Amino acid sequence: MITIEEAREIIRKNLPPRQIDKIDLAEAPGQVLAEDVFARESSPRYTNSAMDGFAVRWEDVQTVTASGPVKLTIVGESQAGIPYAGKLQAGEAVRISTGGMLCRGADTIVPIEEVEISTQNLKVLKADFHGQHVRSEGEEFSAGDLLLSKHTRLEPPSIALLASQGITEVPVFRKPGVSIIVTGTELVPYNAAVKPWQIRDSNGIMLRSAVRKSGGETKLNAHVDDSYEKTVAAMEQAKEQSDIILFSGGVSVGPHDQVKKAAQECGLETLFWRVNQKPGKPLFFARSGDTLFFGLPGNPVSAYMCYLYYAHPVLQYLQGKEYAHRAIRGRVASAIRNTTSRAQLFRVSLEQTPDGLPLVCPISRQGSHMLTSLTDADGFIHLEVNNTLKAGDTVEVIPFE
Ligand code: AMP
Ligand code: MG
Repeated sequence: MITIEEAREIIRKNLPPRQIDKIDLAEAPGQVLAEDVFARESSPRYTNSAMDGFAVRWEDVQTVTASGPVKLTIVGESQAGIPYAGKLQAGEAVRISTGGMLCRGADTIVPIEEVEISTQNLKVLKADFHGQHVRSEGEEFSAGDLLLSKHTRLEPPSIALLASQGITEVPVFRKPGVSIIVTGTELVPYNAAVKPWQIRDSNGIMLRSAVRKSGGETKLNAHVDDSYEKTVAAMEQAKEQSDIILFSGGVSVGPHDQVKKAAQECGLETLFWRVNQKPGKPLFFARSGDTLFFGLPGNPVSAYMCYLYYAHPVLQYLQGKEYAHRAIRGRVASAIRNTTSRAQLFRVSLEQTPDGLPLVCPISRQGSHMLTSLTDADGFIHLEVNNTLKAGDTVEVIPFE
């Protein structure tokens, strides 16, 4: 049986290459750029006004501060979207709105709050410096400048930046296609009638939700009972269309556990089976070409913890992130002991404290069939065999969010 670290290292060594897709900008939020993106145009693209007011010549208004108001003649308007076609002459002003194009001859904006208007005549009361309130072409960046670098996660502002450049398609790391197959003769769909000796399939919907949250796309989604032939058939079908295959159940040592045998039949290369951990000991990992296969134990907590600890980072990696976990520091609230012979992925809740580090509180029921050990928890800690944490110790917590 291998250790948690060995299992993670084997997965790391078998990470398949990332794939790149060109996708429509509208589909891109949340995805990760697979290439640097450069500006096609300068920004602003044309020199315009930052205020509602009047476009003037600095030459005409520079004496305002020293010698009092200056009178100008209003000769037209530059609206946002409808520029003033003419050239500003000495003694003239053009009404301008925020975003309106600066007309030729003008170099300064006087805000509307700093003038008096009577029909065609304008009295400028204040003008501080040459070029005030002008947004100059290229002042933010020039065509050819780096806008967003590879590995940037596309958030609403970066999507807007790309749209402002007229960029309609972006190269992103392809979302991994994941097939989810739950095994078990005892399972019925969660929305169907259940007999006393049957179990509602909760792993199927849990894993589908988890994959969606990790940014993957569900491909084949199936349930097979504990039949060798059906398990082989589902595995073959999943192999055709998946980057990652998740099986739930059937990887332990029971006489009806078919998954490992089926994997051999389907030509998968077994990379490990069984990890010295609790929960999740029977975890099975294999590959076929660039398709990775996780045989998750059927117990719901084991299935989820194994997904989160081993499979989720693979999905993240394929989308351009590191094969790693986000971890936070916390302070242990009361002693946590690992009295078992396996390393424990121990579920904990977190309580915020005023002095910074959250308090890490052990969840009392840790059974691998007890989903409340997940729903009551905020994350988990990795506790080695024979390790005891005392109240007040600092510890690394892997949060569920
Ligand atoms: P297995 O790993 O197939 O031996 O299953 C271990 C335990 O998990 C058994 O008690 C199963 O009934 C339960 N189990 C297996 N698959 C599921 C599932 N899809 N949803 C809920 N419980 C399951
Ligand atoms: Mg089973």
